[in-house]
Amino acid sequence: FGSIVKEPPMHIVHIAVEMAPIAKVGGLGDVVTSLSRAVQDLNHNVDIILPKYDCLNLSNVKDFQYQKNYFWGGTEIKVWNGKVEGLSVYFLEPQNGFFWAGCIYGCKNDAERFGFFCHAALEFLHQFGYHPDVIHCHDWSSAPVAWLFKDHYTHYGLSKTRIVFTIHNLEFGVHSIAKAMACSHKATTVSPTYSKEIAGNPAIAPHLQKFHGIINGIDPDIWDPYEDKFIPVSYTSENVVEGKRAAKEALQQRLGLKKADLPLVGVITRLTHQKGIHLIKHAIWKTLERNGQVVLLGSAPDPRIQNDFVNLANQLHSTHADRARLCLTYDEPLSHLIYAGADFILVPSIFEPCGLTQLTAMRYGSIPVVRKTGGLYDTVFDVDHDKERAEAQGLEPNGFNFDGADAAGVDHALNRAISAWYDSRDWFNSLCKTVMEQDWSWNRPALDYMELYHAARK
Ligand code: ADP
Repeated sequence: FGSIVKEPPMHIVHIAVEMAPIAKVGGLGDVVTSLSRAVQDLNHNVDIILPKYDCLNLSNVKDFQYQKNYFWGGTEIKVWNGKVEGLSVYFLEPQNGFFWAGCIYGCKNDAERFGFFCHAALEFLHQFGYHPDVIHCHDWSSAPVAWLFKDHYTHYGLSKTRIVFTIHNLEFGVHSIAKAMACSHKATTVSPTYSKEIAGNPAIAPHLQKFHGIINGIDPDIWDPYEDKFIPVSYTSENVVEGKRAAKEALQQRLGLKKADLPLVGVITRLTHQKGIHLIKHAIWKTLERNGQVVLLGSAPDPRIQNDFVNLANQLHSTHADRARLCLTYDEPLSHLIYAGADFILVPSIFEPCGLTQLTAMRYGSIPVVRKTGGLYDTVFDVDHDKERAEAQGLEPNGFNFDGADAAGVDHALNRAISAWYDSRDWFNSLCKTVMEQDWSWNRPALDYMELYHAARK
């Protein structure tokens, strides 16, 4: 990679509809921010173009100001800018009110709103004379960038620009994704195993020569147990036991759980079919049966699933008030305390393009218990079964995993995990230290993206 570092800086523009922490729904928001920061740290110039939602969390935008306006698509578009986590962000606010909806997703005309945004973003670059080397778009929501660019901008001012398209989740908007796959110069998805799992999909299969699986990283400054204002004691791998004990007590205190030295299983997730809802429920009961504690932080976009969990919460909070707490909401600060205070983070996804929760768990010294799929397979190596596979990656085994999508699978991993906690505490504590010392940041994947950006330019 030495040659890449010496080349002149590239200008990369992300066109995206999510960005952590100001407009985050899931992992896509995290990736836009943390990949951009990693690439910027390699001395490249990165800008992000985002809709100016009325529900933006503006307290996390520095130097937020109105910049200028332009006209396109039958409306005035106001441009604001500011800094988010040290990144330059342009916010587009069409005066037709498309982003005055009180939410990011969830309008009947989401496809129209985001299609309009994508075209408006390209028009912004064109009208103000920007010539980025790479425009990077993400999932169905900014997929239109790829074909709008091809149809309307290749022959205008943006002829040197290349389009990179990343699939964070093929489940959403597969038609848009097929079109973007065809029109982009390079395409990626967020782990090598997921790239193989979806290679046969008709949206992907014709384009394998330009398609790559690059694992996501997490931002070690945003997720840092040594400097985390939401946890009681700062810790590194050196004092992980002490730091996690304090975090567990604070978590028990905050959620009204019994303050006891019990194995604590955490779940932090969107509650959707993808995330293995039946396996999550089974794991809750299994953990309680093994005299452990469970904390679930999750919210369901589908009101029926939300209702179902409200009922489960009511049941558990009466039968196991001292050992189970379900928080059915989105709560970033609480997620930090759970990552730090849990012994295990459970991720039993049916499919998982990359998964960030298992990576964040390890950064906080929590042991991942996962289903072997997609990025979970690429990042979690079972202490009993995956020694060789881990070694091939230069890693120590770091968690527990299972095949299958039934109760027996979950039990296979969870029982071993909980037994290790009860029966081999010294070994368990050294495992916490091991996972904390593994590097799941963007250090390596950001170089892979740079190589891809360069290849797109050739
Ligand atoms: P996905 O993008 O499919 O939702 P990922 O594992 O890639 O799954 O990313 C999920 C991100 O959202 C993680 O950063 C996780 O901590 C966060 N998250 C999920 N649910 C919640 C919640 N209820 N409260 C706070 N953060 C959450």
